[in-house]
Amino acid sequence: MNHAYIRSYTMGRYLLIPFAFMFISCGTEKNRVSRDTFGRMPDGRQIDLYTIKNNSGAMVKITNYGAIVVSLIMPDRNGQSDDIVLGFDRLEDYLNDNPYFGCIAGRFANRIGKGRFSIDGVDYQLTINNGENHLHGGLEGFDQVVWEAEPVFQQQSAGLKLTYHSFDGEQGYPGNLDITVFYLLTDRNELKIEYSAKTDKATICNLTHHSYFNLSGDPATNILDHELMIVADAFTPVDSGLITTGEIAEVEGTPMDFRQSKKIGMDIDADFGQLKYGGGYDHNWVLNDYDGRVKKAASLYDPGSGRLMELYTDQPGLQFYSGNFLDGSRKGKHRIAYPFRSGLCLEAQKFPDAPNKPGFPSVLLRPGEEYHQTTVYHFLIK
Ligand code: BGC
Repeated sequence: MNHAYIRSYTMGRYLLIPFAFMFISCGTEKNRVSRDTFGRMPDGRQIDLYTIKNNSGAMVKITNYGAIVVSLIMPDRNGQSDDIVLGFDRLEDYLNDNPYFGCIAGRFANRIGKGRFSIDGVDYQLTINNGENHLHGGLEGFDQVVWEAEPVFQQQSAGLKLTYHSFDGEQGYPGNLDITVFYLLTDRNELKIEYSAKTDKATICNLTHHSYFNLSGDPATNILDHELMIVADAFTPVDSGLITTGEIAEVEGTPMDFRQSKKIGMDIDADFGQLKYGGGYDHNWVLNDYDGRVKKAASLYDPGSGRLMELYTDQPGLQFYSGNFLDGSRKGKHRIAYPFRSGLCLEAQKFPDAPNKPGFPSVLLRPGEEYHQTTVYHFLIK
C-alpha cells in the first residue's frame, strides 16, 4: 500500500461519512417541522403556525404571533395523546383577548409597580395595563408582536428560532433590544426554551414563557388535583396590587410550602392573606441555591393521566399562577369554555418589580452584555 493510496482512502472515508450522515439526517429532520398559515394581522401581515413533531409521540404548535405555543400534545400513561395547554384555534381570538396563553412575556415579564423605574438616575415611565401597574411588557408586549421565525434542526430535536427587534422607547423601555428565542422539542419529550437578548442602551430585561398547563388533557376540568413541588424555601410576598413588597419570606408553616409535592387544591382556599390578594396562588418563589446554572425547580403531576412535568431553569424565580382570573367566560380550542383554575402557569423568571427592589437579583442589561435564559419543561409518565 503506497502513501498516495492511503491518503485517498482516508480522505474518501472521512468525506463520505459526513455526507451520508447529512443526507440521512436531513431527510428525517425536514419532516419534523411543517408550516401552515394561521391568519393575517389587521395590517395584512401573514401569521404562520408551525407544527413540530418528535419521534416519541409528542408535538408542539407554535405561531410567530407573540411566539405563542398554541398546542402541546403529550402522551398519557396509556399512550393516549392530548393537548395539555390552553389556547385558541384561531388567530383572531389571540388578537382579541388573550390572557397571555402560551406566549413569551416581555420585555419585562410580571409586574412593575406603577410602571416606573430608573437607571443611572434617569426615570422611565412604562405603559400601564394592569390597574395602576405594568404587566408582562405593557399594552403591547412581546405577546402581541410579530416575530420572525425559522425552523431549526439539532441532534435529537427540532424547533423554531424566533427573533424580534424591540425598538428604543417601545412601551417606554429604553434601548433597542434584539431578542432571540429558540423553542426546541427534543426526542426525550422536553420543550426546551433558550432566550438571549442584547441592547444598545442600559435597559431592563426579564423574559418568561406563559403556557397554561392542564396535564389531564381536559381543559374543562380544574387543576386542583395536580400535585406540585417547588424547590424553594421562600417566596416574595405581594401587596393588594400584587406588587412585591421587597421581603423574602419563608414558606415553612404556610400554604406556600410546596417543598414536598402536594395537591394544589390542598391549601388554596386557606385563610392566608397572601392567597386573598392573588385569589389563589399568584406569587414568585425564590428558587434554592441560585447560581445561574440550569437545575430542577419544580415538578407537576396529574395522577389521573400519569403525566409528569419537570421544570428545569437557570433563573432565580418561579411564578406559580393558578389560573385565578379564568372564569369560564373565555372559549378556547374546540369552543370549550375554560373554567376557574383550569390551567396553571409556571413561569421561570427574575423577581417581579425587581427594578424597584434593590435586594432582588438585578434585571439590568447594559450594552455589551447578553441576557440569557434556559428553561426546560420535561414531560414524563409516572
Ligand atoms: C400573573 C397573573 C396575571 C396573569 C395574566 C400571570 O403571570 O401572575 O397575575 O393575571 O399572568 O394572564
